[in-house]
Amino acid sequence: MAVDPELLELLVCPTCKADLELLALPAATCAMLVDRYRDKFRDEVPEVHEGLRCTSCRKTYPIVSDIPVMLIDEALPAEG
Ligand SMILES: [Zn+2]
Repeated sequence: MAVDPELLELLVCPTCKADLELLALPAATCAMLVDRYRDKFRDEVPEVHEGLRCTSCRKTYPIVSDIPVMLIDEALPAEG
């Protein structure tokens, strides 16, 4: 299952309201996020493979078990 493309069309960066692009996250980042969200998923291990990167500020919002986490505090910082 993947995130609904129509939902992705509607989502914008909560910081700057710019468009987002879907990207695959590195394995190490996925592992770190699975650890971070494990406590919030009591009955299952969360799955993290992709994120949504802002085309403007480059923050990346993780997609956890097909749910985009659009929280500024939980965004991954821009690379580089
Ligand atoms: Zn942004």
